[in-house]
Amino acid sequence: MFQVYLMKLHDVHCHLPKNYFYMDIENYMERWISEGLEVVISVATKYKESLRSIELHSKFNQIVPGIGVHPWSAKRKLTEEIKENFELLILDNKNVVLGEIGLDCHFIDKEEYYPIQEEYFKFFLGLSEKHGIPVNIHGKGAEGVVAETLTSFKIPPNNVLMHWYSGPKKILSQFIDRGYFFSINPSVLTGSSHIEVLKATPKDQILTESDGNVKYTIDDERIIGSPALIPRVLEKISEWKQIENEEISDILHSNLKRYLNIE
Ligand SMILES: [Zn+2]
Repeated sequence: MFQVYLMKLHDVHCHLPKNYFYMDIENYMERWISEGLEVVISVATKYKESLRSIELHSKFNQIVPGIGVHPWSAKRKLTEEIKENFELLILDNKNVVLGEIGLDCHFIDKEEYYPIQEEYFKFFLGLSEKHGIPVNIHGKGAEGVVAETLTSFKIPPNNVLMHWYSGPKKILSQFIDRGYFFSINPSVLTGSSHIEVLKATPKDQILTESDGNVKYTIDDERIIGSPALIPRVLEKISEWKQIENEEISDILHSNLKRYLNIE
């Protein structure tokens, strides 16, 4: 059918450096762009993936490069060399996002890693503060410490994004009051409690993400997360916020600009 309005789609958290996407990126991007994708943030979980993010951005300007170390990867001491490597990436590539960074006390149960996670998290928050770069935060099971840690850094609230928030309601409302962004995820299509985050978050603080290539079970079907799922997430947002699809797409688009410091 002829489509008169192509929705503006964005995905603020997708693991494009994973081989699954990276090896076939031309085909994926061609398809997603034809479906209306305007921006996808390629999050990285380690330095090698950060380099891939930057390489992907050089091929497609719709891809915003994310650089960082995921809390699951923060297992060895943060050395001066690692710090310098990331600093250099930022000096060479001004328009990056710091992600996926954060803390995890849920999936990571070895407490000996927690101080290392914190060291990395604080290092990246420091980079954000110093260079004015948006952050893309994972805080599973560590939401209270994330909340506390963020208060020690002067990062504008519009540059803070909570990815797939699933923590306590009290901290959720604290984050909402601070003005942070929340990326709503395809898990809202699976009957998960993430729907509570969507319900609680004002429309001006919502963004969308796939966390691809995570798999979701939607209507008994296993579906691999990617920007192709974003239209269905948008539908769910428009349903809960009682705003037409097209209007919500415009609101989220202007949210994205604020998050990325685009005038
Ligand atoms: Zn992720």
